[in-house]
Amino acid sequence: MTSTTKTNIDLLIIGSGPAGTSTALHLLKQDPTWAKRMLIVDKAIHPREKLCGGGITHLGENVLADLGYTIEPSNVPIKEVRLKYEDRHYSFRGDPVFRIVHRAEFDHWLVKEVEALGGNISQGEGVTDVELLEDQGHVQVTTDRRVIRAKTVIAADGSRSLVRRKLGINDGHYVARLIETLTPETTETSWEFKDGVAVFDFTQMTSHQLQGYYWDFPSIVEGKTFMNRGVFDSRAQPTRDKADLKQTLSDSMSDRERELDSKSIKGHPIRWLNFRSTLSRPHLLLAGDAAGADPLFGEGIAIALAYGKVAAAEINAAFAKNDFRFKNYKWRIFRNGVLFSVVLRVWVAGYAYQPHNPGYIRIGWSIARFVLRLTPWSRPNFVPVRKPTANG
Ligand SMILES: Cc1cc2nc3c(=O)[nH]c(=O)nc-3n(C[C@H](O)[C@H](O)[C@H](O)COP(=O)(O)OP(=O)(O)OC[C@H]3O[C@@H](n4cnc5c(N)ncnc54)[C@H](O)[C@@H]3O)c2cc1C
Repeated sequence: MTSTTKTNIDLLIIGSGPAGTSTALHLLKQDPTWAKRMLIVDKAIHPREKLCGGGITHLGENVLADLGYTIEPSNVPIKEVRLKYEDRHYSFRGDPVFRIVHRAEFDHWLVKEVEALGGNISQGEGVTDVELLEDQGHVQVTTDRRVIRAKTVIAADGSRSLVRRKLGINDGHYVARLIETLTPETTETSWEFKDGVAVFDFTQMTSHQLQGYYWDFPSIVEGKTFMNRGVFDSRAQPTRDKADLKQTLSDSMSDRERELDSKSIKGHPIRWLNFRSTLSRPHLLLAGDAAGADPLFGEGIAIALAYGKVAAAEINAAFAKNDFRFKNYKWRIFRNGVLFSVVLRVWVAGYAYQPHNPGYIRIGWSIARFVLRLTPWSRPNFVPVRKPTANG
């Protein structure tokens, strides 16, 4: 196809990460005719690398369960999530508390499920320009192959969203910084693997002025076992000085008798939700990281899957009423349990990542340990995930 080729379509989804594929799966499960009315484009070709810890909580698994899916790609079930501050810790327990997937494999699986329902995904096709032509009733999207005129567009193109940039939707500082590295480990070299434990270490909040935590996630990458180690800096207090992420990662790893290979570090931002920000324009919705995720823990996979559900409902309502202004999108986001929890997390992060006296944090950790005992998350046999529905 040449750049002058023109395609007209009811819905164009830009990006086939969890936000884009979840939107497609929700639409296709509700109405199979969407297979002919919708196109997904992604500049990458699956299985594509996506920098990520790969932790999927029950919130994400339940979105998939309601669509009729259980996670098929290989994963590490985490039985204990240990939240640490200096010498104190408390743990969420469950069967499992969450799962750790390899994103290349997980996202590829979702892509194949969309294709199995007849969805058309054009991989290796990058969007280069976006123009809202409201008076003509469509969005004009230019890719490196053609021009697409879409009645509606879902921008699910991640934290560095080109769509946001092209439309001048700018939220300034609402971006968390993350870096990560993988170290080869086995059940012999690392107890976290043997016991299925993921660690979130908040000690660095005071030792390195980090507005976040260091993590250890046992992971399987292409059949081999690795510890996914990284640092999450929420920047929930954007005016404070930035922590030195590389030094924080290096020091945290030395505490665990591991040496950081600087060449192995990779970094990527997570945009966090600013509810006052623009999340839609006429004929266009933002979803997943392009809209905003969680600044408290940096959770984004479950959030992206939930955006898919809400965006699909909004698209169906728009076509039913022939009204593409998307005035109710924020309200729908607010009413979705998972996304409402993100709104709350934005508020909590603003408080939690202020500078605190270490003594108060230690007291907070002791209180949390006590309170947790009163919840189902203290039981190792607690199953937070719903059973998949028969028909999705
Ligand atoms: C280091 C790190 C660790 C993380 N760990 C976790 C974790 O453990 N658990 C968790 O829940 N979340 C985690 N996250 C967050 C999570 O990765 C994201 O929130 C999630 O991937 C968002 O999904 P998405 O579909 O919105 O975007 P993405 O997964 O980023 O997908 C966007 C897609 O759009 C495509 N695209 C981009 N630009 C264009 C273009 N111009 N044209 C066409 N296609 C385009 C990309 O190729 C990509 O496939 C982590 C993030 C980072 C950076």
